[in-house]
Amino acid sequence: MTRRTQVAVVGAGPAGLLLAEVLQRQGVESIVVERRDRAYVEARIRAGVLETGTVEMMRRAGAAERLEREGLTHDGIEIAIDGHRRRVDFRGLVGASVTVYGQTEMTKDLGNRRAASGAETLYEALDVSLHDLETKRPRLQFVRDGREDEIEADFIAGCDGFHGACRPSIPAERLGVYERVYPFAWLGIMADCPPPADELIYARHQRGFALCSMRSRSRARHYLQAAPDEDLDQWSADRIWSEIAIRIGDPQGRLLKTAPLIEKSLTPMRSFVCETMRHGRLFLAGDAAHIVPPTGAKGLNLAASDVHYLSQAIVAFYRSGSQAELDAYPARALARVWKAQRFSWWMTTMLHNAGPGEAFQDKIHRAELDYVLGSPAAQTSLAENYVGLPY
Ligand SMILES: Cc1cc2nc3c(=O)[nH]c(=O)nc-3n(C[C@H](O)[C@H](O)[C@H](O)COP(=O)(O)OP(=O)(O)OC[C@H]3O[C@@H](n4cnc5c(N)ncnc54)[C@H](O)[C@@H]3O)c2cc1C
Repeated sequence: MTRRTQVAVVGAGPAGLLLAEVLQRQGVESIVVERRDRAYVEARIRAGVLETGTVEMMRRAGAAERLEREGLTHDGIEIAIDGHRRRVDFRGLVGASVTVYGQTEMTKDLGNRRAASGAETLYEALDVSLHDLETKRPRLQFVRDGREDEIEADFIAGCDGFHGACRPSIPAERLGVYERVYPFAWLGIMADCPPPADELIYARHQRGFALCSMRSRSRARHYLQAAPDEDLDQWSADRIWSEIAIRIGDPQGRLLKTAPLIEKSLTPMRSFVCETMRHGRLFLAGDAAHIVPPTGAKGLNLAASDVHYLSQAIVAFYRSGSQAELDAYPARALARVWKAQRFSWWMTTMLHNAGPGEAFQDKIHRAELDYVLGSPAAQTSLAENYVGLPY
């Protein structure tokens, strides 16, 4: 069976669902094709700090009602060096804030919105392949319920994450890729207990980085710097809690509440940009085109800013018939992507221990952090980037 639509979206993560719903509200129809089932997609624990622009994109998708009710506004962060904490006041410095709201919740809200509008999302679509990308009728083929299926569209949006099928469909000789892999990873936990402070605590400690974050006032999300091949079995809950307490400067555990772990995972750290965000009628958005280390909380937010530029370009095409905005999409998106890459790299290197044999780098990064915490000018730059550069 061949279905026909205007935009075929591959991937029902934040980028794909947000794009589909923003387009839907502008009168552009789409079909979303997703490899996993809906419950799996909505339970995938990942990001949780939203820039103002991302919240605005959720409004434009008509899916911000619960986010506005339940999201936590954070006007700053705390940064600890060897246990001594200082606050960076975003609102005071740049008059803006961020919203803490889980990616799981954002995906559920977008999925509900899409189901309510009657728009099609085809979950459990396997073996997705892309065809005729350099023609006016690109096609997606896939297998669903054991049967071969096909979508013919005007455009394909590749929103299928880092390991998806879309980026590899671009001929290797046309791909422009830039990458850095870091020599450390994040051991992440989640637990149903209040976080130790009302705002996030980022810690640089001689034992390594730590971050105390949250998904709500009663659900904590914390991370520890670990080795990329760390054996998680060596990390009991007790060992994790006491290590977090030490790194944030709370060795007696006065602030840090504990509870049984409901998740324990290891996330590798990578910076990656595929500058080829367009190939014929295929447009990449989100993690399909770029990955940032999570220290600056930019991954999900970059997916949203790509959707902003791409949705504008697609809507302009249908309104005017002009390709100019589509042609401009990669350059517009990449200008913001590289600034977020720079910020994420900077936060990551400044806050993590560089590792054995890197004593000079560690001294420089400590001096830099010390400078930032003592300089309103440097803190303004941090705040401006953290809350999100304007679209
Ligand atoms: C473990 C982890 C922790 C993270 N933590 C943070 C964090 O704390 N802060 C932060 O800002 N960012 C974090 N990120 C990054 C953030 O979650 C991503 O940037 C964000 O999910 C990007 O959204 P996306 O829609 O582009 O990609 P994804 O969320 O990856 O969605 C892609 C979708 O495409 C589907 N798909 C893949 N391949 C195919 C295929 N062949 N056919 C059909 N469908 C396919 C996938 O199943 C998925 O649903 C984290 C990422 C990971 C992996």
